[in-house]
Amino acid sequence: MTKQPIHGLTNAELVQRARELLPRGHGLARRIHRQAMLDGRFDPESFRLGPEACEAWRSEFSFELPDLVAVQTDEGDRGTTSKMVLRLQDGLEAESVCIPMGQGRYTLCVSSQVGCKMGCAFCETGRMGLLRNLTTDEIISQLLVARHRLGWPIRNIVFMGMGEALDNATNVLQALRVLNDEAGLAISQERLTICTVGHVDGIRLLDQQGLKRLNLSISLNAANDSLRSELMPINRRTDLAELQKALTAYRPRRNFALGVNYCLLPGINDTQADARAVAEFCKPLGRVLVNLIPYNPGSLPLTRAPEEAEVDRFIRWLRAEGLPVRERVTKGRSVMAACGQLGNPAAREERRALRTVRV
Ligand code: SF4
Repeated sequence: MTKQPIHGLTNAELVQRARELLPRGHGLARRIHRQAMLDGRFDPESFRLGPEACEAWRSEFSFELPDLVAVQTDEGDRGTTSKMVLRLQDGLEAESVCIPMGQGRYTLCVSSQVGCKMGCAFCETGRMGLLRNLTTDEIISQLLVARHRLGWPIRNIVFMGMGEALDNATNVLQALRVLNDEAGLAISQERLTICTVGHVDGIRLLDQQGLKRLNLSISLNAANDSLRSELMPINRRTDLAELQKALTAYRPRRNFALGVNYCLLPGINDTQADARAVAEFCKPLGRVLVNLIPYNPGSLPLTRAPEEAEVDRFIRWLRAEGLPVRERVTKGRSVMAACGQLGNPAAREERRALRTVRV
């Protein structure tokens, strides 16, 4: 019989399921949920339930976290970036990255899929193809392992690890509900960010959820259709005009600012005309914040990493067009934990682990 993973449910959902499934002991569902989410353990015996009730809980519900198989760290000027690799029950692996944000705050970049079918040319994960979607509890497990096994003080969550979050919308939306659940993990929407390549059906679906304070960012990377279609195959299906239309309609709150991620690829998308095109694309979108990400060459580099002077020049051009810009400092490059570097392209064929220090 398939057991229901506790960490795939909100507190209220567990209460409901426990009432339906358990003849005894369901009154402790709230506390059992909080124990799992806040202490990272499932121990019905600790609530002095009788053996029968404990057995019933254990036969209907599970709380199994994936094995932690590797942790790699990269010491940078602004703190330590760490990548963890988790082995899932079927032997596949999911990666997450803990990113220092200053003042002792950390963001966890979580995966939503093993691999990805979007095939972005600059991305390691894209080279794996899509192996499968992560379930809601596998998404939440990344946070629970980070907090309870590694002691990482995670404050924010960004869905920017392996996979296109909105290509796994059902499980990701449920994960948002679990993360945001006031009776459980209680991570406010302001501290949650969905990043998408521009999955317009997903953006529309997100719009219907009433998550007014949630952050959304898109990976733009080129603002002319021919170049974007080369870099990001999704653009062949959904061109910039359609993406712009979906984003213009996405107005969850009055002061909403859309994140526009732009990976700077020297010799490919770094001219002044490219900067002007970005400004043109952003014009009807209301408030935006451009995150400029210097390219991180992976195992099959498209180009080299940009020089600091090239990054500064492109930022100047964008600002001259009236766009607010923030440079995303590259973190974790040495452990393949930087943007676009997650994933194990050999996994499809070999289903084997990364060559890293095993823990
Ligand atoms: S950049 Fe994101 S959407 Fe594109 S292939 Fe990589 S993981 Fe998938």
